[in-house]
Amino acid sequence: MSGTRRLIVAIDGPAGAGKSTVAGRLAAHFGLLNLETGAMYRAFALKAIEKGIATDDAAALEKLAAETSIALQPTPAGNRVLLDGNDVTARVRDAAVTQAASQVSVHPAIRRWMVDLQRKLGENGGVVMEGRDIGTVVFPDADIKIFLDASPEARGERRYEQSGKAAPAEAILKEIRERDQRDRNREQSPLRPAPDALVIDSTDLTLEEVVSRVQELVTARLAVPGR
Ligand code: C5P
Repeated sequence: MSGTRRLIVAIDGPAGAGKSTVAGRLAAHFGLLNLETGAMYRAFALKAIEKGIATDDAAALEKLAAETSIALQPTPAGNRVLLDGNDVTARVRDAAVTQAASQVSVHPAIRRWMVDLQRKLGENGGVVMEGRDIGTVVFPDADIKIFLDASPEARGERRYEQSGKAAPAEAILKEIRERDQRDRNREQSPLRPAPDALVIDSTDLTLEEVVSRVQELVTARLAVPGR
């Protein structure tokens, strides 16, 4: 499908809105690479924890970033995450890393570093990139921008089911609210839809419904001559 070769699809939205599922399904359907930028912030947060660096120590984090390499390897089952060459895919999902990722991502220097890396990863197109600032900052000229939202309760419920009910539902909802608060209110590139993003509220939709709506949109976009 040559028309999809240079396509860039940006999917942004808060935690638990279904971005990864939708991005993974789109990537499989259209033969695109799925790049999960959240995993990059998570990998860096893991390194900060391991080095004993506080998530509010901007100077130390910036120094750490200069000596850190992070790579994503898309696979049909999701992204493999490499931190300084080591596979940390499972470890970046720990609750402590999740909170730390949201804390390190507020620092402007860390965001600039990540945005540069992410632009390099997507520069040849043929990607679905998901995160918080893809349509607003990383690829403001993306061909398609989706902002996937849902009520905190619906997102908490989905995460609870996905986690195999490993943590109490209230604890998951609390974590989601804290991350929302930080992501939406940070000074640099706060979480919000790009002006030209299609906002989909999936609170009352199944993820199947969201996937087919987004697939229709991509198909329609590909049919536009001259893109
Ligand atoms: O998407 P995920 O939950 O894995 O992201 C972890 C954290 O990384 C988020 O809570 C957010 O603070 C941060 N993040 C970000 N910008 C992105 C992707 C993730 O600030 N593009």
